[in-house]
Amino acid sequence: MLKTIGCGELRAEHAGEQVTLAGWVHRRRDHGGLIFLDLRDSTGLVQVVAHPEDAGFGAAENVRSEYVIQVQGEVSRRKDGTENAELPTGDVEVRITSLRVLNEAETPPFPVNQDTDVAEATRLRYRYLDLRRERMQRNLRLRHRVVQGIRNFMSSRGFIEVETPVLGLATPEGARDYLVPSRVHPGSFYALPQSPQQWKQLLMVAGVDRYFQIARCYRDEDLRADRQPEFTQLDLEMAFVEQEDILQLTEDLYHHLSDEVGGFNVPEHFPRLTYAEAMERFGSDKPDLRYGMEITDLTNDVHGTEFQVFNRVIEDGGRIRAICVEGGADISRRGLDALTELARENGASGLVWVQFTPSDSQEGGPLDGITADDVKTPVSRFFSPEDLAGLGKSCGAKRGDLLLIAAGADAMTSRVLDVLRRQLADERGLADPDTLSFLFVTEFPMFEYDEDNERWSAVHHLFTSPFTDDLGIVESDPGAVRSHAYDLVCNGQEVASGSIRIHSRDVQMSVLRALGLSMDEAMLKFGHMLEAFTYGAPPHGGIAPGIDRTVALFARERDIREVIAFPKTKTASDLLMGAPAAVTTDQLREVHVELDPVAKEHLAKQAEGGEEEAEA
Ligand code: ASP
Repeated sequence: MLKTIGCGELRAEHAGEQVTLAGWVHRRRDHGGLIFLDLRDSTGLVQVVAHPEDAGFGAAENVRSEYVIQVQGEVSRRKDGTENAELPTGDVEVRITSLRVLNEAETPPFPVNQDTDVAEATRLRYRYLDLRRERMQRNLRLRHRVVQGIRNFMSSRGFIEVETPVLGLATPEGARDYLVPSRVHPGSFYALPQSPQQWKQLLMVAGVDRYFQIARCYRDEDLRADRQPEFTQLDLEMAFVEQEDILQLTEDLYHHLSDEVGGFNVPEHFPRLTYAEAMERFGSDKPDLRYGMEITDLTNDVHGTEFQVFNRVIEDGGRIRAICVEGGADISRRGLDALTELARENGASGLVWVQFTPSDSQEGGPLDGITADDVKTPVSRFFSPEDLAGLGKSCGAKRGDLLLIAAGADAMTSRVLDVLRRQLADERGLADPDTLSFLFVTEFPMFEYDEDNERWSAVHHLFTSPFTDDLGIVESDPGAVRSHAYDLVCNGQEVASGSIRIHSRDVQMSVLRALGLSMDEAMLKFGHMLEAFTYGAPPHGGIAPGIDRTVALFARERDIREVIAFPKTKTASDLLMGAPAAVTTDQLREVHVELDPVAKEHLAKQAEGGEEEAEA
């Protein structure tokens, strides 16, 4: 080794020792005739000092940020009063006896030694420099610990890690496939796996009771902040289990990981909410449970009042639903207008607000005896103060609180109240950043109607088992079929999805028919699964936690790109390597692919430099 110890490992007890260090110049300071260097390697930073009489002083004068150097010297305690409490090595420094430049460095396009804001595109273009920064080093290490924790936990529970192919046949997870043309089978294509779903089910048929894999998944979809064209799942599957077994295992895993990482409050028992309950209480199938503001149904309270807007909605089959914002009477008129605008953007025709405005001594008191002076609302003409107090009480409101009321079809009021709930939690700082509020959402509907393609599609995926009680209506009334699909949700985000699977050929066929597949199509696409089910497939089920999302939660990062070493941009480009890229005509010919005019024109423009692939 070119070093005897890591920079970040030096402590007071090393005083008097001769050491050799190697790393990057983090910072150089010339001070009172001395040169101070902060030297950095993967273990941390230490201060190195060169006196004018030291051999190596001349070299030290010439090094700049990010030079790679090796120094030898003696560890000594820093003088009283010059210690740096913020550095683990802050009690010591190394007085150099020699300094060797191992490699020089250009001035980096952004400072590596500071956590400054740098344009995303620049960070990704120079990712190897971005990754040198402390935050990214921390995130990469945390990711390693989480993945290591997963492997240890899964092994301790008797799971074995099995690798499945990357070159395979399309697995339907609802996104577009990445295709790979075959050279030896002209005209045929592999699909990169959207998940190892079919492979893991086949492993269950194969008698592997407990499988897991840290699996890369590929989905060609339009990207959002929390999506990447390739991402990593902990894919797992078990035979001879029921839903609760998978949920309990997942809960144990996340307890294990949060113990490992430390610093978070995690519920001792993860609540289980059905999909219907989650939608009713929070308007979302991924509710953030760190704060309240649950939805109350006011339909019965307001039916038949003088406010015709509500009556009409109810007659059309809609409902009147509300959330109560504790202390929300302090929100200004402008604030309320902004919330109303947000509701409109999400499909509401308006938003009714009611503020119970107390004198200070009554703040938090009950709503009894409210007068017209104690309440502000645009609908005061239609509701007496007592009526409004009644609505407030139904929602658990106190003096000083705010009601936000949405009227319409369930899908819309759910969406609107969910958005408002999250917005208000954000604005009012209601979500504790140290809490990871895990819960399971269960009993997802099996199918949803796809208006664009005018057919039913599977909400989770088509291998998910419908409720036994609903098997009779799979084809006659798909919209009413409940499924054994479940999600792990945390702080308003989906962290994992899974299900108990179909293991009977007949049930699988029935689901495929409900999705509009003919017998021929079913055999062509899924014949291998249908066949495997006839050879003694055991009951089985599984789940697939997203590793990028999980690490991001533990790292307190919003964007999963902060915990992926080499992520892609929102247009699925790799700015560092320049992928995707054109290939030669010979390469195309070899795989029997010809470009269409759109592709040719695009490439021609790119060659002229017209097409800027800058956006991150
Ligand atoms: N394959 C599923 C997914 O990627 C997870 C599962 O059902 O286990 O969402």
